Amino acid sequence: ASEKEAALSATPSDAPTIFDKIISKEIPSTVVYEDDKVLAFRDITPQGPVHILLIPKVRDGLTGLSKAEERHIDILGRLLYTAKLVAKQEGLDDGFRIVINDGPQGCQSVYHIHVHLIGGRQMNWPPG
Ligand code: ADP
Repeated sequence: ASEKEAALSATPSDAPTIFDKIISKEIPSTVVYEDDKVLAFRDITPQGPVHILLIPKVRDGLTGLSKAEERHIDILGRLLYTAKLVAKQEGLDDGFRIVINDGPQGCQSVYHIHVHLIGGRQMNWPPG
């Protein structure tokens, strides 16, 4: 299925997601950065030469950005700051793109908030 089809067939919910198994290392992934709060790993369907997902290790109700509460402000800032560190680590010195898909219309398919870091090619605007 295309990313769009996957997103449209995903039901927004609090159910565990595949990212829990990535965090627990039950499912292998290529980790590029890890600390006590954030895990960053390569997307399995890369949309550019570099495509990394950054996720909080504890979801704490943050299935998507639209569910953010004040208590999430620190982790939201940390995800973006870590994206900058990883972009540097990946050598994306000419720029990169950050994407957070939310809900069916935003093409979100995994309901554990994640930041896409995409780079290594010229981006276009508007996005699809
Ligand atoms: P979309 O599927 O439309 O990109 P999301 O923003 O929810 O929606 O992104 C989920 C991302 O998770 C996708 O880019 C997908 O390729 C990625 N993904 C799904 N399963 C895995 C996995 N096992 N390892 C790495 N990335 C994965």
